[in-house]
Amino acid sequence: MITYDVCIVGGGVVGCAIARELLRRPWDRPLRIVVFEQHDRVGAETSSRNSGVLHSGIHEHPCSLKGQLAREGSAMAVSYAVAKGIPLLRTGMVIAISWEDVRRGLWREFSMLRRLWVNAWRTNIRLSFVTPSGLHAWEPNLHACCGIIIPSVAVIDSLAFVQSLQTDSEATGAEFAFKNRVIGIDEDATDYIVTTDRQRVRAACVINAAGLHADDVAAFALDNKKYTISPLRGEYYELVTPVKQGLIRRLVYPALPPHATGKGIHFSPRPNGQLFIGPNEVPVEDKTDYLSHKTPPGLFVDALQKFLPTLDERDLRWAYSGIRPRLVASDGQKSDFIVSVDREAPPLINLIGIESPGLSASLALARYVAELPCIQKRFSQSGAWPPSRHA
Ligand SMILES: Cc1cc2nc3c(=O)[nH]c(=O)nc-3n(C[C@H](O)[C@H](O)[C@H](O)COP(=O)(O)OP(=O)(O)OC[C@H]3O[C@@H](n4cnc5c(N)ncnc54)[C@H](O)[C@@H]3O)c2cc1C
Repeated sequence: MITYDVCIVGGGVVGCAIARELLRRPWDRPLRIVVFEQHDRVGAETSSRNSGVLHSGIHEHPCSLKGQLAREGSAMAVSYAVAKGIPLLRTGMVIAISWEDVRRGLWREFSMLRRLWVNAWRTNIRLSFVTPSGLHAWEPNLHACCGIIIPSVAVIDSLAFVQSLQTDSEATGAEFAFKNRVIGIDEDATDYIVTTDRQRVRAACVINAAGLHADDVAAFALDNKKYTISPLRGEYYELVTPVKQGLIRRLVYPALPPHATGKGIHFSPRPNGQLFIGPNEVPVEDKTDYLSHKTPPGLFVDALQKFLPTLDERDLRWAYSGIRPRLVASDGQKSDFIVSVDREAPPLINLIGIESPGLSASLALARYVAELPCIQKRFSQSGAWPPSRHA
């Protein structure tokens, strides 16, 4: 049986970022790392089925892991994309209130902008409030009464990002085992025995970055179902009418009332020039149900026509969907990211509920995992690692 120092379950953006981060650190000896991925390539699930936005963290509670890691991770991802030549669209984000919202009585949407402004103030996110004329200068075809603009937000080619992290990890020694679905994790005195549908390996540490399936993978190791992921699909339509494709060039999000769970259906431009609209929120039973009962385009038009009155169902073509690995907290609210050291020695780290802004957070999340005391203790003799702040 082959022995590894670290076995990472999942070749999404998080698993690849962790492999890269662990291998670029000067441990006492070079680490031997395997990444098990059930598909035949990296980023085949949620990591390539998203909006690609490198979020500022403004939508998250300032003290949450989601907020903190999105802020740090997005800055790291922008530098990384520039260094590696990964397609990046520096669009900025506008969160807008439409004239229609105003007619309907907008106090709830205004309270959202106020909450976001407080979040930004507490976390040093640069933004500006804009009036109709300011919005017109920023995005000439947008019909809106006012909003906030966060200039730092960018959109990355998410698949190219994951592939680049894989390339970096492999160049420094990581082994990727594709078409290997992990089906069992057993503990012995010092290690784990990880069983896939093709092989068994021994590993001194297991990091579960299995996205939508992280609750099931955690249950293999813990022998009970400690976590439950509720899959929530988000669908996208592409705006295909040539004369309308160029009407909106930046990220435009709606201001939503405080009880809203997501960030809302938005205009989602991509580095290659495509413009999508989405995502909505559809609870699904099956974690692979990307296609059944597609939501008709009318719902998407209803959500965004207030910002672009000429938008019509005939402009839209169903494009793709992604599924959020949502974890519902005990109080029924949206949960924070969970990075749980479920065993100290040998280390078992479960990453659960890594939904949006997980793409943005990935590089900072990887650093957070590498700096966990159980990892330091296991792979660094001194056990005292000065927390680094390299990008
Ligand atoms: C609609 C939508 C829009 C989003 N938009 C954004 C956005 O704009 N910005 C942002 O920051 N985030 C966004 N996100 C969130 C972001 O995409 C995720 O947080 C991120 O991709 C999670 O990465 P991951 O590596 O944890 O999971 P995944 O990409 O799901 O990777 C997990 C991997 O584990 C593998 N796996 C699972 N079980 C096993 C097993 N038993 N054995 C072997 N392999 C296994 C899977 O095949 C998969 O490849 C969005 C998500 C959705 C659904």
